[in-house]
Order: sequence, then structure tokens, then C-alpha cells
Amino acid sequence: MMQQYLGIKSEYPDTLVFYRMGDFYELFYEDAKKAAQLLSITLTARGQSSGEPIPMAGVPYHSIENYLSRLVGMGESAAICEQTGDPATSKGPVERKIVRVLTPGTVTDEALVAERASCVLCAVTISGSGAGIASIDLAEGAFRVSQLEDLATLDAELARLNPAELLVSEDSPNANRFDTHVTRKVPDWHFDPASAEEQLCKLFGSRDLRGFGCEGLSLAIGAAGCALHYIRETHRGSDPHITGITTESPRDALTLDATTRRNLEIDISSGDQPHLTLRAIIDKTHTSMGSRLIGRWLNRPLRDQTILEARLDAQMALQEADCIDAMGDTLRGIADMERILTRISIGSARPRDLQSLRESLQQLPALQALLQDQTQATIANLADALQGFEPDCQLLQAAIVDNAPALTRDGGMIREGFDQQLDELRELSQNADGFLEQLERDERERTGNNNLKVGYNRVHGYYIELTKASNSTIPANYIRRQTLKSAERYITDELKQFEDKVLSARERALAREKSLYEQLLRDLNGNLPALKQCAGAIAELDVLRNFAERAQTLQWTRPQFTRERLLRYDGGRHPVIEGTLNGKFVPNDLHLDSNRHMLLITGPNMGGKSTYMRQTALIVLLAHVGSQVPASDAQIGPIDRIFTRIGASDDLASGRSTFMVEMTEAADILHNATAESLVLMDEIGRGTSTFDGLALAWACAESLAQKNRAYSLFATHYFELTQLADQHQSIANVHLDAVEHNSEIIFMHNVKAGAANRSYGLQVARLAGMPAELLKRAQNHLDELEAGQSPQPQQQSAVQMSLFDPLPNPLAEYMETIDPDNTTPREALEHLYQLAQIASPQ
Ligand code: ADP
Ligand code: MG
Repeated sequence: MMQQYLGIKSEYPDTLVFYRMGDFYELFYEDAKKAAQLLSITLTARGQSSGEPIPMAGVPYHSIENYLSRLVGMGESAAICEQTGDPATSKGPVERKIVRVLTPGTVTDEALVAERASCVLCAVTISGSGAGIASIDLAEGAFRVSQLEDLATLDAELARLNPAELLVSEDSPNANRFDTHVTRKVPDWHFDPASAEEQLCKLFGSRDLRGFGCEGLSLAIGAAGCALHYIRETHRGSDPHITGITTESPRDALTLDATTRRNLEIDISSGDQPHLTLRAIIDKTHTSMGSRLIGRWLNRPLRDQTILEARLDAQMALQEADCIDAMGDTLRGIADMERILTRISIGSARPRDLQSLRESLQQLPALQALLQDQTQATIANLADALQGFEPDCQLLQAAIVDNAPALTRDGGMIREGFDQQLDELRELSQNADGFLEQLERDERERTGNNNLKVGYNRVHGYYIELTKASNSTIPANYIRRQTLKSAERYITDELKQFEDKVLSARERALAREKSLYEQLLRDLNGNLPALKQCAGAIAELDVLRNFAERAQTLQWTRPQFTRERLLRYDGGRHPVIEGTLNGKFVPNDLHLDSNRHMLLITGPNMGGKSTYMRQTALIVLLAHVGSQVPASDAQIGPIDRIFTRIGASDDLASGRSTFMVEMTEAADILHNATAESLVLMDEIGRGTSTFDGLALAWACAESLAQKNRAYSLFATHYFELTQLADQHQSIANVHLDAVEHNSEIIFMHNVKAGAANRSYGLQVARLAGMPAELLKRAQNHLDELEAGQSPQPQQQSAVQMSLFDPLPNPLAEYMETIDPDNTTPREALEHLYQLAQIASPQ
């Protein structure tokens, strides 16, 4: 047995092999140790190998799904090895085979995948500075490739796709670049473009790949071949339904790098409140398919304004037709058809899947009726895709019982009246008791013996029993079957026939039922392309309806796209923060264009700087997803990327050397931002000493404004930077306002022109109870200080120079000892006095 095990295991070196033994699945050796640790199951031993006990761990067969889902969730893979031979007839160990391989990127089992999350398998190959990437989403039946010119784009693509499993060449020199993903190393030849092309053409029945737009993209094709090979290997021969390949160009989408995705909290919150994400606000879809589609749209905002306009047109049409609530009601009744159809295509759909599919199809006429008067092209096309499934629906209605069992194992899924042969077999097994009772009555009457019994014995089968004491005459058609001490047992032809029929009726009914079920899956599979398209249309309708509903509920409006260099909005809000403030959110405006494309944002801590910047990015993002936006009105010109960088002290999560991180990230932006990019720089330079940080911030701001000419929002606590607005026409100062009112500081949260008022520190001091006389003197000193320090135009170069000097003057020397984040009002005042002393010693 161990030999058999080791033979099988050798084919799956990196996969936990679950080896069926009776009522358990066992794992051995390293697999056992690993599983014991991951699943907290007991590690035992069995037998010996070269004098050492063999480590073993096992799980009961009936609860394996639970263990598997935990393992896959942890990024592990598992191969299930079943007994396939008959233990009664086999010599030596029963024949066993791997029947199922589960990996994080290829699972389709309902129990093993999160409903609303996509499950994507990716393959990546790198050559020089270029890369090819292929992704397969089995639920969606989508196969996508793209070829990338640089590795930064590859990183951004991987951040977008967020694969559950990533295939890379075992020879890949850049392996550590993938550290954050669940990777699987495969031989380099799996990426061979020539054989990949051959495989793909064969799968699609095409002569070449020209029709798919990836002709000649050898890295992309190689990656596609690798992914396909892997899917086939894990699905053991049953080809999942993939009908084509889509070639995507990263240029078609707004690029968001991993840091930006994180900072904008698109679908993962960086704080401890997981519900505070853009996705949580925008995704109130009713189907899992719709929810996954929103996830994909949010992660791949498009640049093509025509597509975006069409999505917006569709929403407006639904809003006008006033069918949003009614659509919601029908959509709620629709199951995850995409995943069910995938399971149908690989033959693993369960009876409940088919029941859900039927219930879903039954919703279609109602949904379609709601949309039948729609003339808007997108909606009309989607509504068309819902038609023509009555035959499938009727077939399912006729074939599958109302409350289908979870598994086919014990039968009971096929409805009565669907198949005559099945009905007869079922009748037989169910009516056996009635027949036997009747026979017993008849025979008692015939023999006049009331002690006559009809019975059943596992070895001898059915019998008629007469006690020896009864001495009644034995009818001629009784054949002796068995003699007991006090009784004789007989069989008749009639009983024998009945026995043959009944004994196997149950098994035959079950077998019949299973074969009918398989036939049903094949029949449905024949209509799979149309069904898949229908599922896709439902997902899209769900999303468009959802966008329309969200816009109405949250009072969002349709953005206008323009070809001009312009980014402006009125009454803009941060969709997530607004939701937490019960109507107290203060809307703000923004205006950037070719003359004025950078805002330097100052203002007190907690004033709303970060919120203002992020709301701008979210408005731009939402517009490019095809959603309406949280503003009273918005106009948006072409945008190619969004960059966000957040100063280290705001970014507590990463423990890396903060200055280094800031430098690298800033360098990335300065290299890649174009005049069509939106750049958010939130208090960069905070993570380092005052002068390093100021120098870094200064250089970045200037370069962004002059060289990159990107739309830039630059929040800073370095007041010195506000001078930049005097030097560069394209830079403007704005600040977030705070006022004192009835001895309280009130953050107005509104954005005003000009730089912030620096006396804010003194207001805080007043609130802290400082004597008025003292504060007045402090204010005088401060005024002098500011007058002395604020540079005249001719002094500017001197100031810039001084930024790079380590200790330019005694003022700066003192400044360096101040930690602005950990200063109490009393200390602040103390500092002001000291500074005033240094500035004017007399
Ligand atoms: P800053 O970056 O200037 O320190 P934040 O943008 O982090 O300030 O905002 C701090 C808090 O102020 C937010 O968490 C929010 O509660 C509130 N806030 C920010 N902007 C607004 C606004 N426009 N309207 C109402 N409250 C706001
Ligand atoms: Mg902030």
C-alpha cells in the first residue's frame, strides 16, 4: 500500500495528497505533519519505514469538504485520492486514483469559494523588461491575456487582478517579486509560446490567434498556455467552458498601483473598520455575479469615454423608467448562475445547483417584462440576452424535484413522472412491503395455515416459512430453499421473480437516476454559451441597476466627460466619510485645468486635507467605472493614472524605513506621471527630519508642477512650500479653514483660497487656558517672526539653498528639536518664545 501511495504522491510533490482508506482520508510523511499543523488534527504514526514510524494524520471522509475549504483558504492545494477498484476482487491494495485536485485558483466547488469574491488564476512570464500575463476566472469563464512593456505595469496588473494563485516559471529570476502572492512554480517549458499557440487554437477550433488580438504576443501566449495546461491538469480531463481569449491592453484602463489601491481603500479598508471601503458603499447588488462584476469594474476603471457614457446612459434610462425597486425584487431571486454553469460544464453540478438554476430562470420573464419598453441600447441588448430559456427551464422543472437533495449520492433528485423506467423501479422498491403482505395473506388462505410467514434473509433471500409442527400440505409449486430445526423455507417462481426485481430495484433506480442526471447535465451543457451570456447580462443589469439606485439614494450625479484638460467639480463629497457623518459632511469644490494644475493644501491637523484629496481621487475613479459621482456636478477630461502617496506618519502599517519608502515612491511618480495623471501627495516628508522632508517635498512639488505637469493635490505641513504658488503660475494655495467660536475651535472643513493662517497654534493655546497677556506677547513675537522669515521674492533662491544645508541657522537648529506631532499647547507656546528669542535676541 505504501508503494502505491508513494507512486501517487510522486506525481503531486507540492500538493497535500488525501489518500482514502476506509472511512478516512489519510496523509503521510511531510503532508501529515503539515496538515496536522494547519488543520490542528492529530499527528499519529503507522507502520514503519526503514525502522522509523511513518507520520500519519487523517480526517473522516464525511467532513473532508470542511477541511478542504480551510486549506484552500490558506492558499494550499489538495489532491483527493479515492478507491476506484473493488476491494472484493482486488489482490493487494485496492486500485486508487486521484479524482480531484483543488488549488486556490481553480476551485469551483460551492463550499470552497467565497460568494462575492472573484477567484482568479494567473500565469506570469517575464523576459527582459517585458512580461506576459494570463488570467482565468473559472466562474466567469473568462480567459484574459496581456503583454506588458515594463515590470512596474506588471506589479500594477497583479495588484488589480489579485490572483488566488499565481503560476511562475521555476527558473524565473524575479521570483521574489511575487512574494505577496500564493505562487506555484512550474517548469519553464509550460510557457513555451509555440505549443501554447497550438493548444489554444485547438481549444478554440481556430486556425490562428489573430481573431483574439494576441497574435505575435509571444509572452502573453506563453502565459496563456501555462494557465490552460494547469486548469486541465487540476480538472482531470474535463475541460471547463472557455470559448475564447480576450487580449487586454493596460493602456485601456486607468492605472492604479498597489499603494494607490490601498490608500484609496477601494475594497480593503486599511483601518480596523472593514466596512469603510468604497466597495461597501457602492456595492448593494443583489446577486453574487453582480457583486463580482462591480469588483472587476472598480479594479479596472476604463479610459474609453464611449463605454463609460453607455453605462451612464443605461443608468439614466433605468432611473427614468422607475423600475429600480422592481428589478431589485426579481434579481434577489437569482442565484449564482455563473458558478453553477461552470460546475455544469465540468460535470460537478449538484442537484441543488440545478434547483437554483431553475428558480433563477423562472425570474427571467419578470425581469424582461420590466425592461421591454427600454430603447436605450445597452439595456435593450442586455434584455435580449434574457430570452429563450423556457425550454431549459421546463426541462429542469420536469426533471428536478422541488426540494433537491444536496448530493446525488442517495438519489431522490429526479422528479416523479420524468422517466417511466425510473418510476417503475421506484415503485417496485417502495411497494415491496405491500406485495409481500398480500402474498402472505394469499398463501395463508391457500394452505389454510395461519402460521405461514413470508420473510427475508440476507443470504437466502425471500422465503415462505412453514413450521414443521403445522403439518399442512405443501403446495406443488413450493420449492424447498432451506431447512431449519423447526421450520422449512420455500420459494415459488412468483416470489423468485419478485425477488430478482426488488433486490436490484433500489440499486437500479439509483443508477438510472444518476444516469438521467448526467444526461441532464449534458443537455444543459449544450446550451451553455447562451446560458453563460444570460448570466453575464444579469450581472451587468444588476450592476447598472445598483449604480442607478446608489446615485438616487446618495444624491450623486452624472459626470460629464470632456476632451479638454480639465478636472473640476462642485459640491464634491467623500462617499465613505460622508456616510459616517449623518449629513454633516461639508461639500467642497475643485478646479484644475491647464493653467492651474497643482493645489498646495495647508490647514490644521484634522482640518480635512486628506479627505479633500481622496474624495477627488474617488470621484475620478467612480467616473471611470461608469458610475455617477458624489458631487453636484463634475467635468472630467482624459485621465491616465492615479497616484497617491501618503506621508509615513500617516502610513503606520508599513514598518519599512520610511524615508527610503517615500523616496522610492516619489521617484516612481516623478518618472511616470504625465499631464493626464492625477497625483495625490499627502504630507510626504513627514517620516524624516524636518529638512530632509522639506527638501523632498519641495523638489517633488516643483517637479510635478513643472515637468510632469500632472493634476496634483499636495497637502503639506511645511508652510515654506506655500511660497511655491508665488513662483509658479500653475500652483495655487488653498487651505482648510478652522475658526474659533465660543471658546471652541471649529473645523469648518471647507476649502478656501490662499494659504492657512499660522496663528492657529495660538488659538489652541488659548483654549488650553493660557493667560491673555502672555498670549498677546506671544502673538507679537510670532508676527515679528513671520515678518522676518517670510521670504521676499529676491530671497527665494536663498531659502531654497538653505533647504539642502544641514543646519542653515540657529532657528532651524531649534526647529529640529520640535516634534510637531507630540507637542502640547503649553510646549508649543514655550517653543514660540524660544524661537522669538533666537530670532530677535534684543
Ligand atoms: P487632515 O488630513 O487635514 O488632518 P482629515 O482629512 O484626515 O484631516 O479629516 C479629519 C476628519 O475631519 C475626518 O475624519 C472627518 O471626520 C472630518 N472631515 C474631513 N473633511 C470633512 C468635510 N468635508 N466635512 C465634514 N467633516 C470632514
Ligand atoms: Mg491628513
